[in-house]
Amino acid sequence: MITGGCFCGAVTYQVNGKLRDAKSCHCSQCRKAFNAQASAAAMVDPGEFEWLSGEGNITSYIGEHGFGLQFCKTCGSTVCTVYNDKVFQVTLGCVDGDPEVEIGMHLYVGSKATWEVMPESIVTFEEGPV
Ligand SMILES: [Zn+2]
Ligand SMILES: [Zn+2]
Repeated sequence: MITGGCFCGAVTYQVNGKLRDAKSCHCSQCRKAFNAQASAAAMVDPGEFEWLSGEGNITSYIGEHGFGLQFCKTCGSTVCTVYNDKVFQVTLGCVDGDPEVEIGMHLYVGSKATWEVMPESIVTFEEGPV
């Protein structure tokens, strides 16, 4: 059972299945959306995602095309990404313990921050995967 939640603990969830396709995107938008050198998120089957607490304490930013992010109103943790109001990715930083998945791809490394030093052994793409 995979569980996760925000920094302050108001928002918690569980995933009744496995996470897959963990990716990290280093583009300038993801750096701002995830407050870090890159995003780190894994896909979840929307039917397997379940809020345990704090669903009313979530606020959303929905961009163009219906893709968006959901945050804890209290502490600002980016908990998940949504598409057409359904959760389709969880942010790996908010998973408790072992998410049982590893980041397989690093995207948009060509536009990474000047201050980020990439490890040499990882799989990187200058932009998206081909
Ligand atoms: Zn919180
Ligand atoms: Zn990105």
